[in-house]
Amino acid sequence: MEFVPAGEIIGKKHQIRTIGLRKSPHLPDGEYTFVDTYCMDPSCDCRRTLIQVLLNGVHVSTIGYGWESQKFYNNWMGVESNKNYMPDLHGATVDMSSPNKVSPNSILSFFNALLDDKWIAAFKKNYNAVKKQISKAKK
Ligand SMILES: [Zn+2]
Repeated sequence: MEFVPAGEIIGKKHQIRTIGLRKSPHLPDGEYTFVDTYCMDPSCDCRRTLIQVLLNGVHVSTIGYGWESQKFYNNWMGVESNKNYMPDLHGATVDMSSPNKVSPNSILSFFNALLDDKWIAAFKKNYNAVKKQISKAKK
C-alpha cells in the first residue's frame, strides 16, 4: 500500500504541522515536522494516516494514526474483535516502517500530547480530500 503526503495531492490547502522542541529530557532539540500521508488506493477505506516525523528535515520516525474505533478496524480487516492477534489500528502507534532515529516511546508521547480535536479533524478532512482527488483522477 502506497502512502503519499496529502500536500502532494491536495496542494496548498494542506498544511503540515511544525513544532520547535527545546530541552526535552527525552527527545533531541530541533524543529519537528509532522507530514501526514494517506493511502493512494481510491477503493480502500482504511481511515488512517501514516505520519512522517522529520527532525530538522531528517525523517526520524513514522507514526500510524487511526481515528476510528478498534471495532471499525476489526470489521474492516474482517476479524472478530475477541481475537487478540489483531494489530492495534485505533489510536497512535509507531509504524513498522519507522526508521526509529529517535526513541519510539518518546516520539509517541510527544505526538499524543500534541494531538487535539483540531488536528484529528484535519486528518479526516485531508483523508477525504485525498480520496476524492484520487478517485477523480482515476476516471
Ligand atoms: Zn487505504
